[in-house]
Amino acid sequence: MKRKSAKDRIGVILSRLKKRYPEELRTKLRYRNPWELLVSTMLSAQSQDAQVNKVTPALFRKYPYVSDYLGRKPGDLYPFVRTLGLYRNKSRNIIAAARFIRDNFGGKVPMRMDQLVQIPGVGRKTANVVQGNAFEITEGIAIDTHCITVANRLFLFNTTNAEKIERRMMEFVPRNEWINVTHLLIALGRDVCTARRKYCERCVLNDLCPSSTVRK
Ligand code: SF4
Repeated sequence: MKRKSAKDRIGVILSRLKKRYPEELRTKLRYRNPWELLVSTMLSAQSQDAQVNKVTPALFRKYPYVSDYLGRKPGDLYPFVRTLGLYRNKSRNIIAAARFIRDNFGGKVPMRMDQLVQIPGVGRKTANVVQGNAFEITEGIAIDTHCITVANRLFLFNTTNAEKIERRMMEFVPRNEWINVTHLLIALGRDVCTARRKYCERCVLNDLCPSSTVRK
């Protein structure tokens, strides 16, 4: 039997994932404004959202606004973020981002993708998270390592290039689902479709997935 295309499967894939992971439809990062979300997202690279949420309340209490980071050195942030991986790099990028936002965007986190990706330490993934969650704007689909693993198995993309995966998914995922699809693929990737092992017998997509080990 001919396998259904990704476009034909995406509706039912999204509806099953929403039912299975209803609590995952927004970012788990805690923030009160676009700047805090930008900082949290930068801190979340290779760290879990829960770990980031543990350190940001104290950080944001001490340094709430973009302007609070301008006169700082990266080392000023270390005491708050040193439990996170790559904290030196992340601190450097956050300080540089605050300066860049002051110099180029009047101290306000910009809304547009082409502006967001100019900020030091901000790639398309971070920009998509900030746009989607802080501004409810979608110009793309945020792709992280979980999304790469799951999308390759589910849609047979055969690439680890996040931008290529994003472009291909934008062709068949409805635009109003671009924020949701990221969160749902991450949930699936953490739960049953992990990089190390796939637990297809527990996966709600095992009858729709070409990589499933469950015999149909
Ligand atoms: S069926 Fe298996 S390979 Fe396919 S998405 Fe689910 S866990 Fe991953």
